[in-house]
Amino acid sequence: MHLTWLHVLVISLPSITYWVCAVTLHLMGANRGYNGKVSERRMLLTQVVVDALQMSASLPRYYLEGDCFAFRWWKVVVGLVVIDWVEYWCHRAMHCVPLLRTIHKKHHNLIPVHTFGAYYNSAFEALFLGGCLGVISIALCGLSVLELSIAASVGTFFTVLDHTPAAFFSGEEGDLSDHEIHHNVCSNCNFSQPFWPLLDWLFGTRFEDVMRKEGKDPEKYLKRKAKRVNRAILSQPSSPAVARLVNTTSHLDDSVASISISSDLARELKKFAADIAASEGEGQSEEQIFEELRNY
Ligand SMILES: [Zn+2]
Ligand SMILES: [Zn+2]
Repeated sequence: MHLTWLHVLVISLPSITYWVCAVTLHLMGANRGYNGKVSERRMLLTQVVVDALQMSASLPRYYLEGDCFAFRWWKVVVGLVVIDWVEYWCHRAMHCVPLLRTIHKKHHNLIPVHTFGAYYNSAFEALFLGGCLGVISIALCGLSVLELSIAASVGTFFTVLDHTPAAFFSGEEGDLSDHEIHHNVCSNCNFSQPFWPLLDWLFGTRFEDVMRKEGKDPEKYLKRKAKRVNRAILSQPSSPAVARLVNTTSHLDDSVASISISSDLARELKKFAADIAASEGEGQSEEQIFEELRNY
């Protein structure tokens, strides 16, 4: 088989979608005010690796399969449903199974979200997710290269939107999308990606459902926690205590959150708790706030 530019274009479609969407939103100011610890350069370098993995996994199909450019619109719809279900269950597994949790850690370093970081994933996560999507969409559902590429590009478009701060679209400061809540506030919920929260609703993993199960008021919890983490990032971005706090918040589920901390970190968190108690304690003592920060 003779490889043409058309063949390359088809397998590059998801990558082109990423670069066009992420860069356009960036130029429009979607990431203005980003102050996370992952640099934009690292996000883009990771994307180059993800693009290379995705394209090298698709390329052999041209040599192994017959009609790679077959197009049936209903197969594209099947591809979108597969992406929705596979991403939900793989994502959920990556928060429950210890080994998989390790490979997902890199993505949760992205706080707050950034359009360039939509696929800021470890190579292992890319292989795990890509492998599951590939087996189901190609081996079980029989999608051609073109059909899968179109479905994956639609998925990419929505994944970049998922990693665009909701406040950029709404203009309301402090507004958080479902996926931002997953990144910034509670990693034990909102696993649905990239289209809609249907599966979270179906399987009881929406933020509201998880909070109610734990006897917490989701509204109050969200406000308090988002305010504190955002305030910590804004007020003391270079503090190691804040970096550790943000890091721990993103890696631990609230239900199991209990960390052992060094005395240096404890001292810094105590100072931070005193600061919060003085300005926005809402009736909580410094000790209570310290315990809460410590147990994030
Ligand atoms: Zn994400
Ligand atoms: Zn996650």
